[in-house]
Amino acid sequence: MKIILQNLTKRFPARGKKNQGDVIAVDNFSCEIPDGELIALLGPSGCGKSTTLNMICGLEAPTEGQIFFGGEDVTLLPPELRGVGMVFQNYALYPHLTVLQNIRFPLENLKGKDRPSKEEMNRRVMETAKLVQIEDLMDRKPRELSGGQQQRVAIARALVKMPRVLLLDEPLSNLDARLRLQTREEIRKIQKKTGITTVFVTHDQDEAMSISDRIAVMRQGVLMQSGKPQDVYDQPANLFVARFLGTPPINVFEGEVKGGRLLIGGEAVLSVGSVPDQPVWAGIRPEGFILQEGGPLRCELSRVEVMGRDVSILSAHKSCTGQTMRAIISADQPVDAGSGTVCFALKPHKTFLFHRETGARIPFNAR
Ligand code: ADP
Ligand code: MG
Repeated sequence: MKIILQNLTKRFPARGKKNQGDVIAVDNFSCEIPDGELIALLGPSGCGKSTTLNMICGLEAPTEGQIFFGGEDVTLLPPELRGVGMVFQNYALYPHLTVLQNIRFPLENLKGKDRPSKEEMNRRVMETAKLVQIEDLMDRKPRELSGGQQQRVAIARALVKMPRVLLLDEPLSNLDARLRLQTREEIRKIQKKTGITTVFVTHDQDEAMSISDRIAVMRQGVLMQSGKPQDVYDQPANLFVARFLGTPPINVFEGEVKGGRLLIGGEAVLSVGSVPDQPVWAGIRPEGFILQEGGPLRCELSRVEVMGRDVSILSAHKSCTGQTMRAIISADQPVDAGSGTVCFALKPHKTFLFHRETGARIPFNAR
């Protein structure tokens, strides 16, 4: 089921203080989610991810804009008629019901001709339980399950009605790191197997990048950029997106373009073609540095961390906006840790220029 979000806006009325404006939780958000894809809504806490998801689900009505499932306008449809399955961060299982009863619950709630027979209900419950691999736990109560198992029950409960759309709101944040990795792989597998169009909300860029077909990065209610994870990483629309994606994060320098060259700390470090002269932010990915004796970017070496395959070089530069800059190079290259300085050249496709005021990326052709 293809989902179209068209100019979605959600304003919450200001409470209490008189001259405080409304909260604009989601601001003119438009996006198309192709049939069968998994899209991650990604952004910092409070940027409007849950509000967007709740509007898709029907729990919140948009102030403006429309939502389409396939060709159908569902903007005014109540949640139970939308054919959505939703999983919340806290699972929200019924504590007094067994796993089986929890998963069956949405089917029991169906009315009239939509309500399957008892046999059909049990068949679907077992099929879904098998899909998420909890068929051996059917008689347990939620408190007798681990966090990961509870989360699977919640996913099974969302899937049992065979929804047109699956919505997951930070479904992994209550799990420990190891289980989080494992469960995200499983969610991806289940999604691929069922082919259900899925919206996955997270603030964790690593999680978003690893499991989705597409990511949509939000900031303060506004969609900053959407696309394939690798495309967004390689061609961020602005400084915010560039900073939000990638671990370790991108290194940002105060720089200047002059005569077709990028200057950092007054030194020409890269050719940037026909970009007009202007002050810029220069973003360099950790993997964008080339260790080069006499290279144009001279830094004060702080520390070298060997991490198996890679070496992480921590250093300082007066134009770098962060405390330390981090370069990652292959462990094959020797680093002279005794010298106190380290010099780099830059890879043009790992270096980005951003407008100093707006933060928008300024594309360039390196010569
Ligand atoms: P996220 O899920 O990305 O953390 P939310 O969608 O929950 O963000 O919230 C977006 C913004 O809307 C926040 O500033 C939040 O305080 C505000 N907000 C969310 N729900 C309500 C509500 N029911 N009433 C007023 N403000 C709300
Ligand atoms: Mg949220």
